[in-house]
Amino acid sequence: MSNNRARRAIVIGGSLGGLMSANLLLQAGWDVEIFERSGEDLANRGAGIGTHEELFCVLKRIGIDIDPTIGVPVSGRHCLDASGQVVAYWPAPRTMSAWARLYRPLKERFPSTRYHFGMRLVAIEPVVDGVTAVFADGTRHRADLLVGADGFGSTVRSFFSTQASPSYAGYVGWRGLVNEWEMPVDFHRKMFEHYFFCLPEGEIMLCFPVPGKDHSVIPGKRAYTFVWYHPTEEHKGLADLCTDAKGVCHGSSIAPPLIRPDVVRQLRESAHAQMAPQMAQMVDLAPQPFFQAIYDLDSPSVVQGRVVLLGDAAFVARPHTGMGVTKAAIDAATLADALQADSDLDLALAQYGKRCGLFGSRAVARGRWCGAHLEAQSTKPRADRTAEELSHGSTIMVLREHGAKISDIADLAPLVQWLH
Ligand SMILES: Cc1cc2nc3c(=O)[nH]c(=O)nc-3n(C[C@H](O)[C@H](O)[C@H](O)COP(=O)(O)OP(=O)(O)OC[C@H]3O[C@@H](n4cnc5c(N)ncnc54)[C@H](O)[C@@H]3O)c2cc1C
Repeated sequence: MSNNRARRAIVIGGSLGGLMSANLLLQAGWDVEIFERSGEDLANRGAGIGTHEELFCVLKRIGIDIDPTIGVPVSGRHCLDASGQVVAYWPAPRTMSAWARLYRPLKERFPSTRYHFGMRLVAIEPVVDGVTAVFADGTRHRADLLVGADGFGSTVRSFFSTQASPSYAGYVGWRGLVNEWEMPVDFHRKMFEHYFFCLPEGEIMLCFPVPGKDHSVIPGKRAYTFVWYHPTEEHKGLADLCTDAKGVCHGSSIAPPLIRPDVVRQLRESAHAQMAPQMAQMVDLAPQPFFQAIYDLDSPSVVQGRVVLLGDAAFVARPHTGMGVTKAAIDAATLADALQADSDLDLALAQYGKRCGLFGSRAVARGRWCGAHLEAQSTKPRADRTAEELSHGSTIMVLREHGAKISDIADLAPLVQWLH
């Protein structure tokens, strides 16, 4: 490579992980372009996002202000029993943000001429000191480095010689959202400012406030959301949830409008049978509940030649950690720092591989630990479950450990101190 040209990086995937990485590499003097499969702006994706201090550190580094509009603050978590009484409280200040609230400033900071929509990567060809990316429209782009930020179903990962495939955790996360202005007054007064858990045996449900439409945090314009982790056996249960009213099975996910009315009806009935009345009311109020199957992904390697994996393409930790976007941010900063610290590209990438791999596999292990009893519900007969798998552990432990601050997690805290 000549010494007087900027090193060139291609980022595959223009979601949060790809944008954070591309912004940091551009700041470091790289010639960067993003190629995103979707043909249109991604801002209307996603729902509530739990944040961590480390995510804010990376956003600040990119030049994004962290002001009160970043999200809705909550001060602690309450746990409700089946009758709706508060049985536990754990103080845990957090900020609940929204996917679009993070995407918008990241996208605005990155030059639009370098962000290409409607570009689906189909192949990667290694070349001397670099890589060529091949797209579905037949175009080819050469670079010194290719960053695979193309998410959980990563095409980039499929070109690795040793690769992990996602493994289903045995449960789904049902989700739903109600606009603040559409909440009944009494329900709003009792619920809105709070983060609630309900923990019937083998289930976890949470409700919390998030920014509203156009990521507004103005009172009256925010939203309230629920996540219900519900054991669902893979071959019959999940396949049935993903089968539409015409009998077509869509694999392991389905577009929300195609979810059958009888599936939603059953969800609402189960909520009334198992959950605190307030939580069941929340499921009733959400106009279009939808779900995501929960998977683990633990990659044995995130670097191959001049290709690296980042964010959900590399590791997926279960959402109990509330860490998906933060982990993508940490990966992006780890990569940018490794490249700045070592002018030898291959040595820098090896360093990235080591650090990203360690944090990622520990985050995945933590997600598995947080969800072990949920997993056991659909993968083991009751008689075979261990004591831990039969119960959630103590209620306070669940409130404390779900979405815990990274700085409070002994295994992870030392790995991210450099960011602060
Ligand atoms: C129930 C649930 C709750 C969650 N809650 C939280 C939370 O509270 N906090 C949190 O931080 N995270 C949470 N997450 C995780 C979070 O959504 C992800 O970790 C995060 O979005 C990962 O970002 P990413 O950029 O790595 O991948 P993605 O956001 O998946 O983006 C990948 C991009 O690559 C593009 N792409 C894919 N293939 C190609 C191709 N071949 N060519 C070109 N482009 C391609 C896609 O179109 C997409 O835009 C949750 C997840 C679930 C399931």
